[in-house]
Amino acid sequence: MPAVQPSSSSSLVLVTGATGYIAAWVARCLLVHGYDVRGTVRSTSKGQQLLEIFQKLTGYGGPKFGKFDLVIVEDIAKEGAFDEAVKGVDAVEHVASPFHFDADDPNDIIEPAVKGTVGILQSVSKFGEKVKRVVITSSCGAISVANGKPVTFDETNWNDVSVKQAREQGKKALGVTKYRASKTLAEKAVWDFVSANPSLLWDIVTINPPFVFGPTTNHVPSPENLGTSATDWYKTLMTQDAGGKSLEFLATKRFCWIDVRDVGEAHVRALAKEEAGGNRIIISTEPFCWQEFLDIANSLTPSPYTKHPLARGNPGAGSSAEPLCIYKADRAKELLGMSNEEGADWKYKTKEETTRDTLAEFAAKGW
Ligand code: NDP
Repeated sequence: MPAVQPSSSSSLVLVTGATGYIAAWVARCLLVHGYDVRGTVRSTSKGQQLLEIFQKLTGYGGPKFGKFDLVIVEDIAKEGAFDEAVKGVDAVEHVASPFHFDADDPNDIIEPAVKGTVGILQSVSKFGEKVKRVVITSSCGAISVANGKPVTFDETNWNDVSVKQAREQGKKALGVTKYRASKTLAEKAVWDFVSANPSLLWDIVTINPPFVFGPTTNHVPSPENLGTSATDWYKTLMTQDAGGKSLEFLATKRFCWIDVRDVGEAHVRALAKEEAGGNRIIISTEPFCWQEFLDIANSLTPSPYTKHPLARGNPGAGSSAEPLCIYKADRAKELLGMSNEEGADWKYKTKEETTRDTLAEFAAKGW
């Protein structure tokens, strides 16, 4: 299956939900690599704010930079929502999906996630006559859920536990369970679509990240407008009580993460690398506990953020134990050339780089 290169007479890529935290980085990385980007946005005003951000980037408008354009898709769950948007594009990055833990009924989040994902595939089948590849932002939440002891997961695993819990517990299920169920069911629908349509002329890649942190490139005028994962990072570092997390939680609970700019690059590479086609790909760097981010934030010299003291937790108490979910990211190394190893074609950002750059962004915004 042919991959999509930036140089092939300005390839045009559709990015769904372009004003979101991750999608804006996906769009920006594509532009920097020379792809033209059509972003779906819910409203003209939101799209305009993003366009203005991209226009201020060094090189925008130059010969090596792609061009950014907008199309309105108010609700990804509507029948035929993407029928117009996919016309004439060479590839699709489907990133839009509800990401929050506030759903009441599980279907409030499962339905838009699944309908949006199946909807883009149907629109590509009907109207995406030039499309060669569709990259879908899935999640490690579609791969696993912690079960009390450290377990290593890879792309063969599926999080059926959250789906079962969401079905059995309904509204009483945890918000995070409903969200994870939405991601599992949306990604299962992708691979079911592939099985049901064996003669497609295009192929699919899913990208499965764990927690995503790092600076924003979308329009975020105040901390209240940060997305779900960036809000968690903001509250933990920027409020004196570490967002209400206990000292024990900060020091001992370990999770996996990846910088949002690495997620953006992974989406670009998933388009350009022919051998990526047909794969689920986990992108995940070394684990973290929150205390490590706090210690790094408080030790940076010079400090990128000086307006007020940052949360401290219990300095030095961070555990180095294995997290409960460990993600094997070998496929990203093999297919995308991305890993946290020295000498990798693309080395993932470190906690220090992410912390420095994110705090610098907060300082620049006067937060
Ligand atoms: P955001 O909330 O920042 O972005 C989600 C985007 O989807 C927004 O642009 C949002 O538009 C749009 N969207 C949601 N529902 C609809 C709808 N019904 N109709 C039209 N647009 C819609 O979240 P992230 O950028 O963090 O997440 C993006 C993707 O990455 C999601 O699929 C998420 O599951 C996945 N992911 C995120 C991780 C993270 O830690 N951030 C980790 C792993 C996966 P609007 O804001 O205007 O509502």
